[in-house]
Amino acid sequence: MQKIVSLCKRRGFVFQSSEIYGGLKSAYDYGPLGAELKRNLMTEWWTDMVHRRENVVGLDASIIMHPRVWEASGHLAGFSDPLVDCKVCKERFRADNAPRAEEGADATLRFPDKGAAKAALTQLTEQLGVTAERRGKEIVGLKAGAAGYVCPNCGSPFLSDERQFNLMFKSAIGATDPLGEVAAAIEAGKLEGLGGRELRTALEELTRPSAVYLRPETAQAMFVQFANVQQALALKVPFGIAQMGKSFRNEITVEHFIFRSCEFEQMEMEFFCEPGTDEEWADYWMNERMSWWRRYANAPDKFRFRAHEDAELAHYARGCSDIEFAYPWGWGELEGIANRTDYDLKKHAEASGSKLEYFDPVKQTKYTPFVIEPAAGATRGVLVYLIDAYHEEEVEGAKGKTETRVVLKLHPRLAPYKVAVLPLVKKEGMPEKARAVVDAFLQKGIAARYDEQHAIGRRYRRHDEIGTPYCLTIDGQTNEDDTITIRDRDTMEQRRISIDGAVAEVQKLLA
Ligand code: ATP
Repeated sequence: MQKIVSLCKRRGFVFQSSEIYGGLKSAYDYGPLGAELKRNLMTEWWTDMVHRRENVVGLDASIIMHPRVWEASGHLAGFSDPLVDCKVCKERFRADNAPRAEEGADATLRFPDKGAAKAALTQLTEQLGVTAERRGKEIVGLKAGAAGYVCPNCGSPFLSDERQFNLMFKSAIGATDPLGEVAAAIEAGKLEGLGGRELRTALEELTRPSAVYLRPETAQAMFVQFANVQQALALKVPFGIAQMGKSFRNEITVEHFIFRSCEFEQMEMEFFCEPGTDEEWADYWMNERMSWWRRYANAPDKFRFRAHEDAELAHYARGCSDIEFAYPWGWGELEGIANRTDYDLKKHAEASGSKLEYFDPVKQTKYTPFVIEPAAGATRGVLVYLIDAYHEEEVEGAKGKTETRVVLKLHPRLAPYKVAVLPLVKKEGMPEKARAVVDAFLQKGIAARYDEQHAIGRRYRRHDEIGTPYCLTIDGQTNEDDTITIRDRDTMEQRRISIDGAVAEVQKLLA
């Protein structure tokens, strides 16, 4: 992971947000190459999910929606994580993801060095009144408590109570100033004598009229606009509404680079079908989505399904399977495919008073469709393909010495640049010819890069590292017979092709 993170910064894929001000935790900027990679991935998804299907249409909804959407969807009440603080190392973590430990089981606390372990022991004795023993970097002789888990950082069973923490980012809309409302209420003495929960409820009431939330998923807009979309295009069930774009979650634990961040992009589709056909459609979409992810991967076996256990399932869902990827730290979610039944449409119909039903003109019946939802992370997908593509190979260098070649074996359709055009030397008319070749590619809208800096071997390595699938080199022979070399990134094999046919040749390879 460290190597990938460092390559991402060095080559302009992903930067820490606001780095010159110390960076903003869990926010990332996609640099020139990352922006292309993310865009290519999302375009592939849109092409496959919308353009290649007659029964799926797109939507581009606003990020800020009516607050009642989140009330009806249950996000305001239920979209929260159980948050816990470790009393020893102060780590804040999600209880549901913490390492499990039965009550009464031995709990060993582990620290990076002896000094940290000594400090923790002093704290345990003096502040928590606990007796334990230190062995090097570990503290032993403790038992796990009733929580059923321990701190993921140090292993301590000394934890705060769980608190529910809403993950939605709250903001205010309109000309009202929520703080002004609060100040006025204090001045008028309306909050006097209130404390704890009562004070909180009163403050929430005061700020509610202007409160809005950044969407924590793209999905709800497809339910809310179901009737408009269906009627505008006279769509017949089964059909899908797809959307991709930004979502925001104030995640407690941000981890593994862009795997989990507060601002990220999703690619989601709600597929509306007749009740009773839902399980068939769920199987269909699981297969479609798995083959899509595998299509662009070097190691398709690193993707697997994991069916949710009953306890994990949302109460309304009939089934959910995650597509997981083997990340360097273990298997983890990449996409969830859920059978959401008619829950969302019914909830929004009830809360809004609008009819969110479908009239089947053939069967002459009315019903609320069931929904199958494939919900994928686009930014998480970028990380998956970077990990899948990253390879180090031992190759023979220019002077016969063995050296390490870093190569990003990105699928050509995802690669930021499709070709690099390199004049062997900066003379004999080679740069001019190379520029003309680059122009021919750019005219066709194919991302091409002119590169004349450093020796040719170093230029090949540079393009290997950013995943450019083909390098075209203009050399001495070009002047004689109008041919250039085309080098394949993965095999490093070179062959000669005609300079005039270069664009057509690369188009054929990319098709
Ligand atoms: P997790 O269990 O990892 O928190 P989730 O089950 O809450 O994910 P969903 O609500 O099903 O995720 O969202 C669909 C997809 O959106 C996920 O499979 C993931 O790829 C992506 N995603 C969700 N949260 C984040 C995040 N904070 N950062 C990046 N991608 C995310």
